[in-house]
Amino acid sequence: MTTESLPSTARSEALFARARAVTPGGVNSPVRAFRSVGGTPRFIREAHGAHLTDADGTRYLDYIGSWGPMILGHDHPAVREAIASALTGGTSFGAPNEREVQLAETVTRITGVDRVRFVNSGTEATMSALRLARGFTGRKYILKFRGNYHGHADGLLVEAGSGLMTNAAGALGQAAPSSAGVPQEYAALTLVSEYNDPAALDTLMAERGHEVAAVIFEPVVGNAGVLIPTPEFLAALHRVREHGVLLIADEVMTGFRLSLKGATGLLGLTPDLTCWGKIIGGGLPVGAYGGRADVMDFVSPQGPVYQAGTLSGNPLAMAAGLATLEILEGDPGLYGRLEAYTGTLADGLRSAAREAGVILSVNHIGSMLTAFHQDAPDGSIRTYADAARSDTAAFAGWFQHMLGRGIYWAPSQFESIFVSGAHTDHDLNATLDAARAAYAGLG
Ligand code: PLP
Repeated sequence: MTTESLPSTARSEALFARARAVTPGGVNSPVRAFRSVGGTPRFIREAHGAHLTDADGTRYLDYIGSWGPMILGHDHPAVREAIASALTGGTSFGAPNEREVQLAETVTRITGVDRVRFVNSGTEATMSALRLARGFTGRKYILKFRGNYHGHADGLLVEAGSGLMTNAAGALGQAAPSSAGVPQEYAALTLVSEYNDPAALDTLMAERGHEVAAVIFEPVVGNAGVLIPTPEFLAALHRVREHGVLLIADEVMTGFRLSLKGATGLLGLTPDLTCWGKIIGGGLPVGAYGGRADVMDFVSPQGPVYQAGTLSGNPLAMAAGLATLEILEGDPGLYGRLEAYTGTLADGLRSAAREAGVILSVNHIGSMLTAFHQDAPDGSIRTYADAARSDTAAFAGWFQHMLGRGIYWAPSQFESIFVSGAHTDHDLNATLDAARAAYAGLG
């Protein structure tokens, strides 16, 4: 690949310089800064369907989908119309409105939870669900899994995945904060176990289960790269209830993505509480948590656990979420199409890498996929430690080759990519052509 053949990034570079002067690191969320892959983050001017256009006018095939929400592709006409129609009635009331009732009715009907409360982000959803679990059980500890990411609330920035994957890991059961500014005393209330290790979870529960309010988990992990739970691990998760512990599924990424009933529906899990975000806002800022009526009715003003939000139930966000869920419900074949695309993409990446002599192990499920640059057998990467063995320099090289060929992959080895309903067979072929050239450039 010659530098002459690459499109200009002059405007993105200029915007990044301006941004760095006024915003820490030049971005409003760390992974956007391209720190782990190098180069200039592209400033996006607009997005339609499966494509992004950057400030320099270069068009990219997008596999981030805003990190999950855009399951229908960008700027879907029905979602745009729903937002436009809501907009004519005002942007925020700070009072109840019919759209939030409709979205709550839709979410409860589809997922089977009794009650749902809307908030403004996935972080707020998990933070609120944990407060609720503590209030309901009267216990103070929570348990999470190494490499799972549940947003940036203090007690959850412990052995966390996503942008924090590079931090050192402590021993199981101990809690090492993943961020400065999280006091050890907060982190000490978070117990940590290894994802996909049922024996470790059983042991920790036997010792500490009576003190634990909730176990929070990603039912399919996207934030250490894609990790798929084993049946044995899922069984161990269900067993935590024997200790009076609430099971909280963090479906912020997987909800309405891996199936209409999320990862829990796909895997046959029955959590006590579930957290959502991303897709239920149709591209606008929303989170939600919901579950059993007896637990949810502990939330104020019904119950004693306080949680509130100036913009919660925002009419534009509710309209975007409703339009998105209506389309998903009305197109039962969509999930099969996304899975088929992603499966073909996985097979194509494997064979392209093999031909070029590049080592690769691909995990995928539904429309989520991570191609780990390492020689583990396919499907055998199951824990944080497995994922962390990947060759991040090789990934970064491959990412840059792909970007130069107009394919916008997730800019970190430890993230999932997301396929949308707007991706076509033509896009798939273009991706695999680019991947073959990119692996050849590495090999
Ligand atoms: N939980 C999971 C599983 C996530 O993937 C994320 C974000 O990526 C969050 C929670 C936090 O959501 P938000 O970024 O909307 O606060």
